[in-house]
This record gives sequence, structure tokens and C-alpha cells, in this order.
Amino acid sequence: MTLAALWYPTDKCFIDGRWQPPANGKTLPLENPSTGQVIGQIARGSKDDIDAAVAAATAARTGDWGHLPAFERGRLLGHMGRLVLSHVDQLAEIEATDVGKPLKQARADVLALARYLEFYGGAADKIMGETIPYLNGYTVYTLREPHGVTGHIIPWNYPMQIIGRSVGAALAMGNACVLKPAEEACLTALAFAAIADEAGFPRGAINVVPGLGTEAGAALSEHSGVQHISFTGSVPVGGLIQTAAARNVVPVTLELGGKSPQLVFEDADLDAALPYLVNAGIQNAGQTCSASSRLLVHRSIHDQLLDRLAARYRALRVGPAMSDLDLGPLISANQKSIVAGYLAKGRDLECAAKGEISQSAPTGGHYIAPTLLAGVAPDHTLARDEIFGPVQVVIPFDDEEQAIAIANGTDFGLVASIWTNSGARQMRAAKAIRAGQIFINNYGAGGGVELPFGGIGKSGHGREKGFEALYGFSTLKTIAALHN
Ligand code: ADP
Repeated sequence: MTLAALWYPTDKCFIDGRWQPPANGKTLPLENPSTGQVIGQIARGSKDDIDAAVAAATAARTGDWGHLPAFERGRLLGHMGRLVLSHVDQLAEIEATDVGKPLKQARADVLALARYLEFYGGAADKIMGETIPYLNGYTVYTLREPHGVTGHIIPWNYPMQIIGRSVGAALAMGNACVLKPAEEACLTALAFAAIADEAGFPRGAINVVPGLGTEAGAALSEHSGVQHISFTGSVPVGGLIQTAAARNVVPVTLELGGKSPQLVFEDADLDAALPYLVNAGIQNAGQTCSASSRLLVHRSIHDQLLDRLAARYRALRVGPAMSDLDLGPLISANQKSIVAGYLAKGRDLECAAKGEISQSAPTGGHYIAPTLLAGVAPDHTLARDEIFGPVQVVIPFDDEEQAIAIANGTDFGLVASIWTNSGARQMRAAKAIRAGQIFINNYGAGGGVELPFGGIGKSGHGREKGFEALYGFSTLKTIAALHN
């Protein structure tokens, strides 16, 4: 193992407060996507480990963890947030190496994880029920209670942010958690366990079982001892997880990506828009659920904006995560071949510009040049499918009605942004676009730990982030007392 920043084992599971080798003793190779080299081994957890983790979480619910008052849960989360901040450099290096993301992005992810822990730590003792006026002689009130054991199936693109938003909220509500991180990138999930342990979380409150989706992931989503599953990842796997959960009749929160548009109207402030238009497409090499992969541009400004976008693209540099350029590699050879396959399907399109892969990029790394495609019809495959790579398509439109129709013309509905200085148009478009989050004259709102996030259509259902997530990670009990 060449990763100097590691201070915990990578080839074990964290179950019931202890580092344990997987029951079958098997491991999986850990690849550095910047070089393509195997730099270690991770545990290949399986059903036995998931069974042990769910048993530990179940016991935690009636043990020390379940008995903690809400403010003590909040205090632990807050303490954990501070510990995360004390490990910023190590965590950023680990995430950059494991995922291939530029160091500054990895650092931003660490800070986001800390913010989630702070936010949900602060919220833990502020989750209240209500009293309901009812028939004479009754007093009626509601209690928000944890589901019990929650399963969290985590993708490889933003492990720390996604753990923060889902596990942070679930813990604040008092659930005990079992995490199955992605096989491609599980090191910061294991760091999360190590830091939780250091913070003093009771055993069994947080369990991490790395392994393959089809083994550990499937075992977790099918487990009858799990009362809620949250999943972020692809549409087909989201469907499998919802089906598995349905057999146990448990709720799911699914966040399945998108094909998010930015609508640029003729009166937009293009100087302000320009960095957002590009960054929202190339951040994390386009491997972002809420990436903006479609730029819808009013025809009257199309050509001048395309020139400016193309100039930005030509200045983009791609290289190893630790050299901290604009983009790192894709996560794997498989992901690279998926993106290359899409680019091959877009050969008929006009390639307006490409970024450049740095000469320092090792040949074994999974690099792909960011690509801007122009003159794209809204029904082209590249304008409809989620590519999950650094590819943006520019689609011209003639009027507001057509722009909205194009924006709503995919199966997805995660986020969208509207660039215009007309207040009336901002309001109209924000109402008309089908998406879980709408940004006006910005994109992403700086990450927004406080802002509910999730999609409609094939982008999934349920909301994470903000206070809203706490409702998803809890169930409501209504108590009606007759007292006369
Ligand atoms: P991607 O295509 O971006 O790799 P996936 O949806 O395949 O995304 O993976 C996201 C997460 O889901 C990972 O943790 C992966 O291991 C897990 N996963 C994949 N297949 C399954 C499955 N059949 N059941 C449960 N989890 C799965």
C-alpha cells in the first residue's frame, strides 16, 4: 500500500465497533484510477458480513446507541465533524487517490462531510412532532421515530458527501446504519468508521461492509432486518434495490442521476454564467449525479456563447488527481469505455472543442478529454442518456416554451438552472421545469447541505439533505389519548 495518509485497515469490515476480516477471507484489488495500478486490497464482504452488521445494528438500537438522548447523538455528530476537519489533508489525499478526483475537489468533499455532520448534529434535538386539534376529550400528538436499521448503498463518485448526507441524517434520527460503499472507492467510508469510533459512537451504530454490489449490496438490500434503504447510483440498480425492498415492504430513498439542463436566455448575464455552464459539466470529470450535461441556449446568442464555451474547453487540463488540474481520470477502465462509446455515437455531431490531457498523465490512468458537442438535436442519444463523463451538449432553442419542452424532454428530473434577468421568466420557468432543484442565475448553490435534494422521474424519489432528509429517515407515530 503506497497511500501514506491511511491510518486504518483497508482490507477489513467495520462491524459492531471492531475491524474484522470478511467472513470468507476474500479481498478485491484497490486501483488508483490516476495510474491504473493496484495499490492495495479491500475486503470483499458478503452475505455473512451483512448479516453480522445488521445484527450489530439491531442490537445497537436497543443498546447504548438506542438509549442516547437526542442531544447526545447531536453532540457525537458534532464531535465527529470536528474530527473530520482535523483530518482534512489525509482524507483529501485518500479520496483523491481512490476516486481520481483533483485534490481541491477532494478537499471540498471533506469540508462538505464535516458540514453534514455539523448540520445534522445541530438538528438531532430539534426534530419535533405536533399536537393536532381533534374531537372533544382527546389529546392527539405525533412522534417522529427512527426506522430502526437503515441500509446505505453508496456510489464511488462522491463517497464522503453521500455518506454525510444520508448516514448523517439517519444517525441524527437515531437509526443504526449499515453502509455498503462502492467496490471502486471505499476508503473514505472506512475512514468514516474509524473517525466515528474515535468520536465515541457506541458499537453497532455505524457498520461498514465493503464488497461487490451483486454480493454485499444485494444482501443488504434484500435483508429482512433492514427497515429503510437509501441508494445513490444507476437507474437499473435503483430498480433492483426498490424491488428487493418491496419484498420486505420497506421504504427506499433513491437518487439516480440525471440529464440536467441549464437554460440560457437571450437576456442572461453571460459573463456570470460562463464558469457555471462549464464547471457544472466537467466537475469530477462529469461523474456527478447533478452534472449539467445539457446547455440549452437561445438561438440569438448561440454562436457567440458557443465560441466562449469552446475557448474555456480548450483551456481545460486533465491529469492525475494529485496534480490538481481541472479534471482527473474517470474512475475505471469500464467507465472510460462507456464514455468513449457515447462519444462514438456522437460522431455525427459537431465537436466544438476538447480539453487537453496533460503529458504528465500516466498511460495506465483512465483519462478522457472533456468534450463540447454542438448542434445537438434534443432527441439525440447524447442529449437524452446520462453519460457520466465530461461531455456536454449544446442545444439551441427559439423561445421559452420550446426551451421548457426540451428541458422536460428526458426521463430524468434532478436539477436545472435558468439564466435570465427577467424576474417573470425566472418564476415561470422555475414552475414549469420538472426537477427536484432549480437554480436561478447560478448552478448548485454552493453545494447546499441545508437544501433538500432529490429527483423525479428516473432521477429517483425521496429527498436527502436539509431538514427534509430527517423526515425520510424517520417514521411518524400518531398518539390519540381519550381522557374524559
Ligand atoms: P455505477 O454504475 O455508477 O457504478 P451502480 O449503481 O452500479 O453505479 O453502483 C452504485 C452502488 O450500488 C455501489 O455501491 C454498487 O456496489 C452497488 N450495487 C451495484 N449493483 C448492486 C445490486 N445488484 N444490489 C445492490 N447494490 C448494488
